[in-house]
Amino acid sequence: MTKAIGELISKSVPRYTSYPTAPHFSPNVTGQIYKSWLQALDPQKPLSLYIHVPFCHKMCWYCGCHTKVVARYDPISKYAKALRAEIKMLADALPGKFKVSHIHWGGGTPTMLSAADFSEIMGLIKDLFLITEEAELAVEIDPRTVDVQKIKALAASGINRASLGVQDFNPKVQEAINRVQPYELTKEVTENFRAAGIENINFDLMYGLPQQTVSDVLNTVDLSHKLRPDRIALFGYAHVPWMKSHMKMIRDEELPDSDARLQQTAAAAARLLALGYRQIGLDHFARVDDTLAAALEGGTLNRNFQGYTTDTAEALLGIGASSIGRLPQGYVQNVVSMRSYEDDVLAGHFPVVKGVRLSDDDRLRGLIIERLMCNLKVDLDAATRQFGVDCSYFSDEMNNLQAFEKEGIISIDGSHIAVQPAGRMLVRAVCAVFDVYLNQGLAQHSKAV
Ligand code: SF4
Repeated sequence: MTKAIGELISKSVPRYTSYPTAPHFSPNVTGQIYKSWLQALDPQKPLSLYIHVPFCHKMCWYCGCHTKVVARYDPISKYAKALRAEIKMLADALPGKFKVSHIHWGGGTPTMLSAADFSEIMGLIKDLFLITEEAELAVEIDPRTVDVQKIKALAASGINRASLGVQDFNPKVQEAINRVQPYELTKEVTENFRAAGIENINFDLMYGLPQQTVSDVLNTVDLSHKLRPDRIALFGYAHVPWMKSHMKMIRDEELPDSDARLQQTAAAAARLLALGYRQIGLDHFARVDDTLAAALEGGTLNRNFQGYTTDTAEALLGIGASSIGRLPQGYVQNVVSMRSYEDDVLAGHFPVVKGVRLSDDDRLRGLIIERLMCNLKVDLDAATRQFGVDCSYFSDEMNNLQAFEKEGIISIDGSHIAVQPAGRMLVRAVCAVFDVYLNQGLAQHSKAV
């Protein structure tokens, strides 16, 4: 590895699940503005919904999500009531009954909701929206907390994709991250989902965890493959204890360094490709017959806050505390505090605390970054023409990209920029060249690999 590449790897860059990224949202976008944006949506175009459930039964030390450990059901029941209120407010504000083509339940642990509360919320969504025939209805699952009865309730509500958190199967690594989840349990839960008719299964794996080695990552990939998930996401652990205090439970000296992280992710990717998976963007893998692989092939792969997606809806409405929505006009984020969230929605106010109204410059840069993250290539000429400018708009960026070209991370052919296979893991650093907010000193991000 050259010194220049080493420096790029240790550079801190966003994950680019949006552009501008969340740390650059401002309080100028209010609930009133959000309401006006909702009222301007086109009822002919389907929507996508993201529902956030910020509760877990135990904290995993690597967790980067907005969540809270709870032992009683009271706070969850109260939250479920607020979710129903927010869904009704959204339906009331929209100009008509909208189709919904994607629902994603994330968290936290969505199945902390009782089967009755979960079914009631899904029932409400079905009353107020038209779920399309081919809609994807997905739930993130902590296999340690879901029994057969709950799985049956999810299936009865129409859920057709389950995304299981796995991380690593080595018990030593599991101890170090405070998430003990034996292989046999993951196997049983996977089988239970299939038996209930939920055939689309995703596994989320991680590298860069404390005490984790290349052989742990490979063993986890092999064991996962035995359970035949359709998709595997391989996320790098982002150690940001200054933002998430529970990460202080992970000792710095137990973490693999940048070189080791690179070896882990490269070894896992090579093994997944050898097992027949198709690599999608930076960190996802899908079986060749999966819709994510088809979206990559057909040029319709997109990126949102959950990572790579087949979702092509123009608007994604975020529901729940801390959730982020994306509308044609811009991004909005709900208040993180659960108490404020509940107070706001129960008083009939949209709980939006910040966001960003997109300028044309944001849209153009967002398009370039999304294409690079999804397709690993972009034609600057085609992108700039859509916005009535030409490639000279990015002359500074093109100069900055020369260092990447020299290192073999990208190739530049006229206005075509293509990330090379050796540079795939550094695609976020390439995207960062187009990010005008990055150097404004507002945010601290994780390492590029
Ligand atoms: S189960 Fe998921 S959301 Fe909950 S603490 Fe663990 S990683 Fe975070």
